[in-house]
Amino acid sequence: MTKYEKPMVIANDELAEGVFAASGCYTVTATRHQEPQTGRVNVRFQVNAHHDASHTCDVQYLTLNFTKPVQFISTDAQGAELVSPLSKDSASNTIVLKLTYHNNRTDNIGIGDVTVFGDGDVDVSSASMTDVSN
Ligand SMILES: [Zn+2]
Repeated sequence: MTKYEKPMVIANDELAEGVFAASGCYTVTATRHQEPQTGRVNVRFQVNAHHDASHTCDVQYLTLNFTKPVQFISTDAQGAELVSPLSKDSASNTIVLKLTYHNNRTDNIGIGDVTVFGDGDVDVSSASMTDVSN
């Protein structure tokens, strides 16, 4: 059994918008695919993560913090499972996904279709990824 620990997230205001320097071995960026809209809609995000470490890993937690509550809809990310909130019916400012990429020491992950439902101007306020030890 692996115990989930909430990752520490450090937002770096000096970097370009949507770029976050997370603790641990990943740098994660999250950018919205579409312009802000009015009303409640599906909003799709591009999430990129760069692994910079001397180890490999096979399981990750991706944490996305949003400016407004959203409901997770879908992603084709490898092995994706919704960890938090426990139900897709629940709206939350934080979504945690478990992923199963085999990451070599300096691999890049690109996820083009993280889709949530919420206000059309919602954005990601911070993003991070952490390894889960097997
Ligand atoms: Zn790592």
